[in-house]
Amino acid sequence: MNVLETKEVSYKYPDGTPALKDVNFHASKGEIVALLGPNGAGKSTLFLHFNGILRPSSGKIMVEEVPLNYNKKAIMNVRQKVGIVFQNPDDQLFAPTVAEDVAFGPLNIGLEQDEVEKRVTESLERVGMAGFERKPPHHLSGGQKKRVAIAGILAMRPGIMVLDEPTSGLDPKGASQILHILHQLNQEGMTIVISTHDVDLVPLYASQVYIISDGHIIKEGTPQDVFGDV
Ligand code: ADP
Ligand code: ADP
Repeated sequence: MNVLETKEVSYKYPDGTPALKDVNFHASKGEIVALLGPNGAGKSTLFLHFNGILRPSSGKIMVEEVPLNYNKKAIMNVRQKVGIVFQNPDDQLFAPTVAEDVAFGPLNIGLEQDEVEKRVTESLERVGMAGFERKPPHHLSGGQKKRVAIAGILAMRPGIMVLDEPTSGLDPKGASQILHILHQLNQEGMTIVISTHDVDLVPLYASQVYIISDGHIIKEGTPQDVFGDV
């Protein structure tokens, strides 16, 4: 099943910048899909369509084979299915403590306090950040912030996680911790979509690769199709 799909999606920013042109993209359930491309290619713009933050100028977004609906309730619903981790964790972490940050989403959808606490504990454990509950997020390292941002998404229990440049700016150890977490989540059935410009890492984990340039998908397939034998 295609859990996430775009059909002929084009997008122009309000200032007229064309950012996406006729993009056809899909992720099947349980896959890891990598989106590769240089800065300004349209990766972030595409991701912002996946949970309705941006609405296509033309074309359609499908989540679990249902076209995205843009009323408030449907958007709340889709954000529980598709979690987006932004490139810069400072765009995502704004509460005074780590625990409050991770609790934000679950509280926002009206879960009971007990359930919220349970999810915060579980999610922080999953990303190796148990014990940091009371720390202010801005005191953490880049890799730790990234992991807290991932915990905040996990606390919503989405089936699909979309991560914009999850390893950018991290040292090799921080990057490998993130990849390890993503690999584990995928083993448990989560569909994962990531953007990166780190070509070397892609064949190690992705089952499908898309290359985007100047708002167009220019290549897609398995890592072997796209890069040849590696
Ligand atoms: P990437 O994530 O691959 O670096 P983006 O999706 O951020 O690429 O950008 C795609 C194109 O859209 C670029 O030309 C970029 O300058 C432009 N763009 C991004 N955000 C905006 C915005 N808010 N307003 C106008 N143009 C934008
Ligand atoms: P990324 O590579 O993750 O897309 P960028 O550096 O392209 O990051 O963009 C950082 C921020 O600036 C984003 O919020 C993006 O929407 C905005 N932005 C990028 N290009 C433009 C632009 N041409 N006009 C207005 N905002 C832009």
